[in-house]
Amino acid sequence: MALVGRPNVGKSTLFNRLTKSRDAIVADYSGLTRDRHYGNGKHTGHEFIVIDTGGFEPDATSGIYKEMAKQTRQAVAEADVVVFVVDARGGVSAQDHDIANYLRRLGKPCLLVANKAEGLLEGAQLVEFYELGLGEVLPVSAAHGQGIRSLLDQALKPL
Ligand code: GDP
Ligand code: MG
Repeated sequence: MALVGRPNVGKSTLFNRLTKSRDAIVADYSGLTRDRHYGNGKHTGHEFIVIDTGGFEPDATSGIYKEMAKQTRQAVAEADVVVFVVDARGGVSAQDHDIANYLRRLGKPCLLVANKAEGLLEGAQLVEFYELGLGEVLPVSAAHGQGIRSLLDQALKPL
């Protein structure tokens, strides 16, 4: 599975959680992961590979953002399932819409995951993510290990 999303939504924290590793570098500033990072995970007897990616601007035309977008598209091409990570606390951004449009056109199995959802009142803040047109929004907290099991149940279901 490939983890994609804009910078700072918690992709690398989720990668570490899914692979139970500290391989990915978690940062308080944006755009640290510029290439692709691979890790292994296991869930209910199924082994899977997770790819962590950098911040994704599908339409980036120059410099480091173009290279990051290229790396992310390669990760997505290699993946059977795309896990699109958004920030449950940050709300929907224009960049989230760009990524959602790209993923919808792609037509690969895609899971919309709202991270940083620990302590949020019954999904009230998650409703707006339905406008991305990718179906159900799955709340998780990568930092606190919440919702990870259902994420994996869902992500591995189509395989
Ligand atoms: P990435 O740029 O998408 O890879 O994001 P990172 O994994 O580097 O995380 C960005 C910031 O969000 C870091 O300060 C993390 O500690 C924080 N973060 C990640 N997951 C969670 C979470 O579940 N809840 C909260 N509150 N913060 C998180
Ligand atoms: Mg990262």
